[in-house]
Amino acid sequence: MMIDPIELTRELIRFNTINPPGNETPCAEHIGGILERAGFSIAYHPMEDGRANLIARIGGVAGKKPLCMSGHTDVVPLGAAPWSVAPFAADIADGKIFGRGSTDMKGGVAAIVAAAVELAPRLEGTPGLVLVITAGEERGCQGANFLVQQPGVLGEAGALLVAEPTSNRPLNGHKGVLWIEGRATGVTAHGSTPEHGVNAVYKAARVIGRLEGLKLEDGRVLKGGLPTLNVGWFHGGMNINSIPDEAKFGLDIRMVPGLTDTEVLAQLAEIGGKDVAFTRQGYSEPVFTEPSDPWIASVHEVMAEITGERHAPGIATYFTDAAALTKAYGNPPTIILGPGEAEMAHQTDEFCYIRRIEEATAGFTEIAKRWCGV
Ligand SMILES: [Zn+2]
Repeated sequence: MMIDPIELTRELIRFNTINPPGNETPCAEHIGGILERAGFSIAYHPMEDGRANLIARIGGVAGKKPLCMSGHTDVVPLGAAPWSVAPFAADIADGKIFGRGSTDMKGGVAAIVAAAVELAPRLEGTPGLVLVITAGEERGCQGANFLVQQPGVLGEAGALLVAEPTSNRPLNGHKGVLWIEGRATGVTAHGSTPEHGVNAVYKAARVIGRLEGLKLEDGRVLKGGLPTLNVGWFHGGMNINSIPDEAKFGLDIRMVPGLTDTEVLAQLAEIGGKDVAFTRQGYSEPVFTEPSDPWIASVHEVMAEITGERHAPGIATYFTDAAALTKAYGNPPTIILGPGEAEMAHQTDEFCYIRRIEEATAGFTEIAKRWCGV
């Protein structure tokens, strides 16, 4: 049985899986049906009505764990700007497939499925494959986190490949995320008598001014590149004619290995001084495998052969389901590698290059072959 990954990408795009609400089940069942016919054992794990995660397995031996390949079926909303193509028609032009989810990441899922189906007849008595196809990735890795919480459902994996968009460049991990809220307080008074109040917006603004350009790494060279900080939102005051007694803002910090959340909070506390108190709202560790890991090196070799492009090691700036899955599998080597274009993710008129999907399919097939020794 052979699956054309281009046709499959188009079929998957035609399922409207905009999250919210997601409605991933029909898309997951389409994938599950293909894998079942190819000999995989499949299980659906709905986290809500109409929102199934899919786990498919084949092969398995004592002594070496299977290779896990993972992708998500949900897509982000279309955005406010009008599209010049039909977002769910999966039209082809100029060597590209257009549509919401083409890049992020139905092209990647189709490449995983096509590679897995091609190898399926040869995987009995080998370490085998486990495919984890999640729902709800775009809103905080909801599906992957759900699977992690179901005892025994994920099973084991000796390596993890997440096919998020990287233009087929293998990335040995992704940045972590630390979300923090800053809050300044003041004393309210009538807007005509500012001398009777303490303006919380001024306090917050002074601190934010010091955050712009802050070097969190403090001159150190860290693995995985530089951490970043962004002030994502700011709210202050009640109305035009009062002195604001509260101002709050949100910080989105992207973390790299070697920098700890405790260190960042300590730096912020110093900058905030008496004016702003910082509290941690959420944290997810970076995912990182040493580039010298033999499996990581082998993936680079496979992809260089196929794409003709040799890349230095690097990690993705965005986070992925690996944030949940890598830890749950006991930190096996993890690669983020997929056919989509990272800069097209979540964009109007999203597309994926057909050539990239073909390369990814060939790459995933070779990576799985090497893992399974077939
Ligand atoms: Zn994605």
